[in-house]
Amino acid sequence: MQRRAWLLVLVAASLWLGGCATGLRVDTSQRAAAQDSRVRFIVLHYTSENRADSLRLLTQGRVSAHYLITDEPVKIYALVDENRRAWHAGLSQWFEYPNLNGMSIGIEIVNAGPLDTAQTRWAPYPDSQIRALAALLRDIQSRHQVKAWNIVAHSDIAPLRKTDPGPVFPWRELARQGLGRWYDEQAVARRIPQVTADMLADAQYIQRLLAHIGYPIRQSGVWDSQTQQVIRAFQMHYRPKDISGHADAQTVAIGQDLAGQMSTQQQ
Ligand SMILES: [Zn+2]
Repeated sequence: MQRRAWLLVLVAASLWLGGCATGLRVDTSQRAAAQDSRVRFIVLHYTSENRADSLRLLTQGRVSAHYLITDEPVKIYALVDENRRAWHAGLSQWFEYPNLNGMSIGIEIVNAGPLDTAQTRWAPYPDSQIRALAALLRDIQSRHQVKAWNIVAHSDIAPLRKTDPGPVFPWRELARQGLGRWYDEQAVARRIPQVTADMLADAQYIQRLLAHIGYPIRQSGVWDSQTQQVIRAFQMHYRPKDISGHADAQTVAIGQDLAGQMSTQQQ
């Protein structure tokens, strides 16, 4: 074909494509007052891999996160744009929201996780890594107005499958900086003697309490393994000294205090 003929083909193609070729015109001078961020949750993970393997898996594998925080040296990588979905949460739920990938920002932290198969020893998080995380959380929280109780562990939203970021993750210290939910420690100390044997024996009561503060738990009404696993996930976040999964008075008192917070606030 001659050059002139090619030109005609190109002109015809661009006419046929219409809007695309001529440029879609959108007027953005008027904006709606009624809107908010699609991001409702921040989910925290450990990678259980070293720095190099974490980077490789999260950039080339079938899983991803919006951010990766390495150690040695501490560095924050942005791997997925915040307006796009990262594949980090999997089958998950928090309050009535299922499958959190579409509504969350995922942060992976380079950390080895459990150091033995019995999960009695866990890799610590260096202060410098937590300082970087706190700065990142503050930035994300302020831009998306994420509520304190919606900054969660992977184990909170998938308690039957996950243990990250584990019981040595410093939830309490972060909450003291306004990053995440915590309980009134003095109020819990006062509540502990009021927790009755009947409450501790009542599986339905514990299941309702955990569901009320966000945890995905089947309301079976009996002591089953899923209940123990959800209690363990709760303890890893709020009472990490003992993560047996057994419902003791302190566990229940913390749950009651957090449930009281939910009743007075909007989710
Ligand atoms: Zn995870």
